[in-house]
Amino acid sequence: YGDHRDLHYPLRRQRQMCIRDSHKRHAAGTVITIDGPAGAGKSTIAKLLAARLGFEYLDTGAIYRTVTFCLSRKSVPPVENDILRLALIGCRIKIEGGRVILDGKDVSGQIRSQEIDRIVSAYSALPMIRSYLINIQREQAVLADLVADGRDMGSVVFPKAALKIYLDADVSVRAERRMLELAARGEKAEIREILEEIRERDRKDRERETSPLLVPEGSHVAVSYTHLRAHETVLDLVCRLLLEK
Ligand code: C5P
Repeated sequence: YGDHRDLHYPLRRQRQMCIRDSHKRHAAGTVITIDGPAGAGKSTIAKLLAARLGFEYLDTGAIYRTVTFCLSRKSVPPVENDILRLALIGCRIKIEGGRVILDGKDVSGQIRSQEIDRIVSAYSALPMIRSYLINIQREQAVLADLVADGRDMGSVVFPKAALKIYLDADVSVRAERRMLELAARGEKAEIREILEEIRERDRKDRERETSPLLVPEGSHVAVSYTHLRAHETVLDLVCRLLLEK
């Protein structure tokens, strides 16, 4: 830590200040965005940050996954037409306490499968789906202060966010993290398979025309070099940025 403030305050004290001062500074409707590629550790950091600041956590990946789950279950392919339009309206999606609810049911477990990993980018590239979901996401910021993670949070959904972070990591670090996540859920996968899936998903998310994954203007870029304790470094960075504001 370089500046004089860091020399005067130990890390714990800085963290306490981060919580206290953020509450004081931000009125309702404050948004912090965290964008980045798959497996960069966005959700871990977003959840910890939201808990620290007393904000709600908005997992927009879960929203896209839920729509994908809903449409694929109805055998609706990722093609923009009236069939998709009607099916989309039929997917009754609600966000309750940070969880995405589909037709009254919590589908958090089902949307994290490798099958959804493989097909989600094809659905989320469709402008029809993106414009349908943008209001659901923005509504959440009317209801509470938010830490929102995704691919287009700082660029499209919340371009005026109070703080924008772009979180990145080497693809091998991201694949390792993803493998540990799958193992924790009892799913086995080869690291090579995961590497390929992540590369392909990132490529599709970066190359799509509508709201591609990019570093939003005004973002602070953070890179984690290992899956271990990476969130602590990023959390401290975010707290320092908030203090500097
Ligand atoms: O964040 P997560 O890996 O759960 O996101 C799953 C997929 O949802 C991404 O690969 C991307 O295709 C889509 N997504 C998106 N825009 C967001 C969040 C997620 O297109 N804001």
